[in-house]
Amino acid sequence: MAEKLTTQTKQVLDLLKGEYCHLTAEEILARLDNASTATVYRSLEQLCRQRLIRTVQTDGRKTVYEAARTPHLHMICRHCGSIFDIRMDMTALVQEAAALFGHQVDEVQTTAYGICRECAQKQILNQTKKEEEIQ
Ligand SMILES: [Zn+2]
Ligand SMILES: [Zn+2]
Repeated sequence: MAEKLTTQTKQVLDLLKGEYCHLTAEEILARLDNASTATVYRSLEQLCRQRLIRTVQTDGRKTVYEAARTPHLHMICRHCGSIFDIRMDMTALVQEAAALFGHQVDEVQTTAYGICRECAQKQILNQTKKEEEIQ
């Protein structure tokens, strides 16, 4: 049943499995030699179909891909737009709640919004600077 993966598709998968965990198609394209937009999209489509990768639900501004790993949540920083993994699995909880209504859930994607550590630290720094200026 599983289609054979082309060399490039394997490269895309390796890239997503590697150190870069959340990438857009453009970022993947920029990291591959001899790849075209069309073939990268074809690879991404195939990998999604085979559930080897998945798209991350963002606020719709861009499509981000990641290798399918253990279920986790995403946090998007409202300030810088960075996406962070939060290691927490809500699948069982949601499955249980959905089952009450007769639904069968096989995947849960949850996105949390807030401010990341770096942006929060910068804000504190700016705040203290302002306070020092006032004094
Ligand atoms: Zn941030
Ligand atoms: Zn993730």
